[in-house]
Amino acid sequence: MGKVAVVTGGSRGLGKAAVLALAKRGVDTIFTYHRNATAAHAVVAQVQALGAKAQALHLDVSKPETLDDFVITLHTALREWNVSTFDFLVNNAGIGSYSTAADTSVELLDTMYAIHLKSVFLLVQKTLDTITDGGRILNVSTGLTRFVGPGHIAYACIKGAIEVYTRYLAQELGPRKITVNVIAPGATATDFNGGAVRDNEVYNKAVSNAVALGRPGQAEEIGDAIACLLADECRWINGERVEVSGGQRL
Ligand code: NDP
Repeated sequence: MGKVAVVTGGSRGLGKAAVLALAKRGVDTIFTYHRNATAAHAVVAQVQALGAKAQALHLDVSKPETLDDFVITLHTALREWNVSTFDFLVNNAGIGSYSTAADTSVELLDTMYAIHLKSVFLLVQKTLDTITDGGRILNVSTGLTRFVGPGHIAYACIKGAIEVYTRYLAQELGPRKITVNVIAPGATATDFNGGAVRDNEVYNKAVSNAVALGRPGQAEEIGDAIACLLADECRWINGERVEVSGGQRL
């Protein structure tokens, strides 16, 4: 029986790259999308072309109250593949934000919390009995928790919380031999933040100057790193924050 992954935010960017990298390694994936159903269905077709299986489910992580219904849908999706558990959970879905400490609105703070911490916390809680003993949970943080990017205070603080959560969860799940790690990508050329890293020439150059390897990351480079961290060779890495940035602001 092959491994099964659940990846949030697999319709675009890093999540899509992770789904495809996993497919190349023979891992089947149930991934989520939010607004881009068409893109999600195209990813399913790409996975199938690689010889693996995928299903795309709708999820809005800004509405944690919908997670109970999502988990029911997830169980149905697993049953379609004649399995009752999955092996890897990648908590990737997310959005960026720009604000200062002075002008961050309560609404923005609540949204960042709901998407990047509350939904992750509750999705793990509600799927714990569905994750295989010996499985893996991989959360997605950001390089911005280690270095300061002006304007990212709300986003980065809450991503920082997911790093603390990762260590605590790794300790709790040790008896079940489930490892829990957090990957912290550096600036990567995706649609994120309106495609700023990819499309804004000035920002792209500033990032390039701050990265030892001289350019921003590509989604595939993060997707490959995610698949690597889920591979059996990484089974002894646990409770760690792994930065994947080409050496940003070393
Ligand atoms: P993209 O904007 O390219 O993709 C975001 C993904 O998340 C899409 O699949 C999108 O679904 C999904 N998503 C967005 N909002 C919601 C929501 N409310 N509910 C459910 N799903 C949602 O971003 P990236 O791939 O670049 O970012 C992925 C993760 O990586 C995020 O957690 C981000 O914080 C983190 N990160 C990104 C970096 C970068 O420079 N790109 C650097 C460091 C960390 P849909 O397409 O259907 O709308």
